Amino acid sequence: MMLEIRNLHARLSDGREILKGIDLKVDAGEVHAIMGPNGSGKSTLALTVMGHPRYKVTRGEITYGGRDVIKMAVDERARAGLFLAFQYPAAIPGVSVANFLRTAINARRAEPGVTAGTAAEARKNDMPIPQFVKLLAEKMKLLEIDDSYKSRSVNDGFSGGEKKRLETLQMHMFGPSLALMDETDSGLDIDALKIVAHAIEALRGPEVGILLITHYERILRFVQPDFVHVLIDGRVVRTGGRELAAELEAKGYEFVREELYAGRA
Ligand code: ADP
Ligand code: MG
Repeated sequence: MMLEIRNLHARLSDGREILKGIDLKVDAGEVHAIMGPNGSGKSTLALTVMGHPRYKVTRGEITYGGRDVIKMAVDERARAGLFLAFQYPAAIPGVSVANFLRTAINARRAEPGVTAGTAAEARKNDMPIPQFVKLLAEKMKLLEIDDSYKSRSVNDGFSGGEKKRLETLQMHMFGPSLALMDETDSGLDIDALKIVAHAIEALRGPEVGILLITHYERILRFVQPDFVHVLIDGRVVRTGGRELAAELEAKGYEFVREELYAGRA
């Protein structure tokens, strides 16, 4: 399953164009890193692929496994295997982590477009509770998440690191075929960073494409991407291998920006 983005332009509701012609292909089995300075459009790209209503696609295409993603509703995108770990996850006071995960998993398993008949019919595709409990225990162990997490309200009073850890847990519970991770590494101390890197490596495989959005090169010491892209002012301005990340670390984004504008002048 390949994600293909061609000449993607997207605007905010106030009319400001944020994405100005993005071209990107992420195939199953590949890990891509998208790097770029603050405000370059990294989150906009991830949110546009997921179908956030704040962004309007004005030109270009997004396909996944040949299907037109732009035409798909957000829940269809999720059912098709797309998953986004948010840069700024929202809190849901009063909803426990375990309940939230179970509800979300079952929503993805429900038959699309079928409006529930009886309660029993509505639940017929649900993951059996013992299976859910086992899966959750397994994944929490993998991510070194304390058992007490399960009964806490989603992201309510969570530290930055705990929020990112929960995004990673969700990602593992859903088992996406294409994972977009928006700065999941930001604000983590080195131990938490290693666990998140481990979680990414554990998800990596021939069936899964991963798009790792990051502001810092740090995570890429633990997760080796196949490709590195630099996003500046709503465009992918450079693509390279692992060595591009090291170059950015050494020289900063300014050198790419300078090259870019020197090239245009
Ligand atoms: P990045 O993730 O690379 O830091 P973003 O995609 O978040 O960049 O933002 C790109 C640009 O869009 C920035 O100029 C930002 O201020 C603007 N932007 C994004 N979302 C909103 C929003 N909800 N309201 C106003 N401006 C926004
Ligand atoms: Mg962002």
